[in-house]
Amino acid sequence: MPILVMKFGGTSVATLDRIRRAAKRVGREVANGYDVIVIVSAMAGETNKLVGYVDETSPLYDAREYDAVVSSGENVTAGLMALTLQEMDVPARSWQGWQVPLKTNAAHAAARIMEIPTDNIMAKFGEGMKVAVVAGFQGVSPEGRITTLGRGGSDTTAVAFAAAFGAERCDIYTDVDGVYTTDPRICEKARKLEKIAFEEMLELASLGAKVLQTRSVELAMRFKVRLRVLSSFEDNDEHAGTLVCDEEDIVEQNAVAGVAYSRDEAKMTLVSVADKPGIAAAIFGPLADAGVNVDMIVQNISEEGRTDMTFSCPTNQVARARQAMEGAKDRGEIEYNDLIADTDVCKVSIVGIGMRSHAGVAAKMFAALRDEGINIRVITTSEIKVSVLIDRKYMELAVQALHDTFELEKTA
Ligand code: ASP
Ligand code: MG
Repeated sequence: MPILVMKFGGTSVATLDRIRRAAKRVGREVANGYDVIVIVSAMAGETNKLVGYVDETSPLYDAREYDAVVSSGENVTAGLMALTLQEMDVPARSWQGWQVPLKTNAAHAAARIMEIPTDNIMAKFGEGMKVAVVAGFQGVSPEGRITTLGRGGSDTTAVAFAAAFGAERCDIYTDVDGVYTTDPRICEKARKLEKIAFEEMLELASLGAKVLQTRSVELAMRFKVRLRVLSSFEDNDEHAGTLVCDEEDIVEQNAVAGVAYSRDEAKMTLVSVADKPGIAAAIFGPLADAGVNVDMIVQNISEEGRTDMTFSCPTNQVARARQAMEGAKDRGEIEYNDLIADTDVCKVSIVGIGMRSHAGVAAKMFAALRDEGINIRVITTSEIKVSVLIDRKYMELAVQALHDTFELEKTA
């Protein structure tokens, strides 16, 4: 029997009624001739509640116990989904991560999947079971402790199962009906994409689009898992939603596929550092050691041997970055006149594999921002994206202007 992986996010299993609706979809795929692996999230809001319990009990918690607690939301929905299917006369049973076992490393709260043995579940399919319901987000470490894959990790569980079992497709059921050219909440012209390339989805996810966990897209790209994002609230046929696929499978391609944004950026500037060999290493080494995720970097032209160095990092890492820089200064590794943190910025990015073959995309972006009177503070580019750091108050305007400029409301 061909295998299908169906993943239901928190809003799709938020109540018993919604679990029943999800189970009906699963039942339809079983009737279509599939053996189905269902991956469930915890009920909406449940994981946040569990994280809150842990924080309140122990602010500097033991990550192994954090995982023991926060993984439990998925145990409830997995069991309930199996029971619901059984009530519909669909042969089903549940698995927790350790029972599969979904083996991970020991990086608690951000574990990486090492291996998913298939024999256990395949044997049950062989005995006539039709649906394996697996608790998403959780696994077991080499030491035998419960691990979790990081927030949003059920997406990654789903894609990893699809890869391990050679599933025909991995359907991600969520509360939106697909991947959009940008966030419809801030740009009413946002259009749902029929298809998007893995690389574009990867950029969009890591630049702030929240539909899929970044790691899940990485895995799908590596193992060529056909990934579909669709709504569990609408009746949909096999063409519904957005297919995340190989770029060869996309015939018509706009230069730009989407606009992403992230409010969670801060800009830090070291004023007047000595411009000499090793200065970048002396700054970014301590930042890396302190676990600061540096994104954009700009070094100014130097004047009389001094220069300014600017970088961006997530807003909640500003204090850590400052501490790392002050430490390096105290140890005499770097010197600077001032360290300025600006948290009133945001990052807006355009993404598209078409940029490889279209010239002038970045220039068009900058002109659009100029026409709106928006000042660009920092720019970074890669082969398929251009990101700018701008004042936060212009974020929505910038997204809308870029969406208009690249005519993303139109199909290619
Ligand atoms: N329940 C977990 C979370 O809220 C995992 C997931 O839903 O993907 O992060
Ligand atoms: Mg999610």
